[in-house]
Amino acid sequence: MIKRNGILLIFLVFFLISCQGKGNKPAQDTSQRSEIIQPQKWWENLPRPIYSSLERIKVSQEWYLVYQLTDDTFAIYEPYQFEEAISYLLLGKETAILVDTGTGIGNLSKLVAELTTLPVSVVNTHTHWDHIGANHQFDTIACFDHPECIDKLLNGVDNARLHPSITGDSIWKPLPEELDPSSWEIPSVKPTELLEDGELIDLGGGRKLEVIYTPGHSPGSICLLDQKNRLLFTGDTFFPGPLYAYPEDVDIDLYRASIDRLNGRIEEYDYLCSGHNDPWVKSEVISRVSDAFDAIMAGKGDFKQDGNLRRYYFEGFDILIRTDMIKD
Ligand SMILES: [Zn+2]
Repeated sequence: MIKRNGILLIFLVFFLISCQGKGNKPAQDTSQRSEIIQPQKWWENLPRPIYSSLERIKVSQEWYLVYQLTDDTFAIYEPYQFEEAISYLLLGKETAILVDTGTGIGNLSKLVAELTTLPVSVVNTHTHWDHIGANHQFDTIACFDHPECIDKLLNGVDNARLHPSITGDSIWKPLPEELDPSSWEIPSVKPTELLEDGELIDLGGGRKLEVIYTPGHSPGSICLLDQKNRLLFTGDTFFPGPLYAYPEDVDIDLYRASIDRLNGRIEEYDYLCSGHNDPWVKSEVISRVSDAFDAIMAGKGDFKQDGNLRRYYFEGFDILIRTDMIKD
């Protein structure tokens, strides 16, 4: 009896140790994202200070917060999902341009119809999921003329890829009722227009957007320069947060060259309207991003490391980069 109890005890101890081991593993795939990319309870730092100085516009869906930046420019912010995606509605005289479409979690075409009666065309700064989510709700869709952009739009994004981003700690407010996280996908769309570097998109009434090709964050990334309003729509090439310079589709040399290109034209814009976090950032920060990359490559700068990933800290932005990308 004693011997049997001893064996049972040993078995129990092993069982408890193995349970504890499992308890330390991520409970779900959302938490597999490194803490240096997605800190726990990231939403506790919201709202970001800039929003108290912007004029908020009432809209019918709780998922979106809309801010008026100029008479004819709206920022459409999604603060309840980790990416904090921002899309922009730009009104001209004859047509409106929607710069990116966010996560697609809400009904963006319904929202846009509350803000303008003009015909609306989508222009994608690039084709990562959190920018193309609601493309399928619109008829006219443009992206840069690059095979990567076109393929990403045609492929859509499946539920396996999206599920971690709409469950667990990636979300801190309820999703719209009609969205089922277990089956939600971003549908395939076909671009109706392909953009070239230097092309001018005419909205009428003297408002034009210049396409500036800025590859690096992704192969087909562009920025859009609103010459009249002196605004630069940067997508993910710059935003006040951790710049994603680590994923597989990043080309670090192209990224740095693109930042230099934007810096070379800094006299032409006063504010950056970026794809995440803050929609209204003074342009001077761009001049410091080149220096930041230079510092990293020279082995300088404060960082935290997790595996081969480093997060470097600078004033007004951070840079997430892989150790194998750091070279002189
Ligand atoms: Zn991106």
